[in-house]
Amino acid sequence: MAFKCYSRLELGSLWTISLECVGQLLIAAIVSELEALSTPTTPPVRKTPQRAPLPPELPCTDIRHDPENAYCACGSELRRIGEQVSDKLDYTPGVFTVERHIRGKWACDECEALTQSPMRAQVIDKGILTSGLLAQVMIAKNSDPLPL
Ligand SMILES: [Zn+2]
Repeated sequence: MAFKCYSRLELGSLWTISLECVGQLLIAAIVSELEALSTPTTPPVRKTPQRAPLPPELPCTDIRHDPENAYCACGSELRRIGEQVSDKLDYTPGVFTVERHIRGKWACDECEALTQSPMRAQVIDKGILTSGLLAQVMIAKNSDPLPL
């Protein structure tokens, strides 16, 4: 939309803003807001931090954490409905290995209770380093003057 509107400087000390000019400014502002509203805006993509998987060529040890017995407190048998897998990077001198902790999810069909072994305590919560690898890093950092 093209319109001619005189500015304050063009009119000097005798400036007056005509009603037509104010109307044109309002219409232009409304049109620009409507155009902004009508353009499809994509919702902002929320980036969730994604950790790269550990290299598959590293030797892996599966450690299963399942309940001690396969029966619920109500007496019926538990049914495995899934598992939660977390990989931890371990280091024994010269070799990096992967500890794969597999925590099975068990459900009772009678009382719909869910049973899962608790996660073991870790040095760093949600971290992938085992205590062995952390010890190696600390020794390399402090005893051997190696940078991180
Ligand atoms: Zn039960």
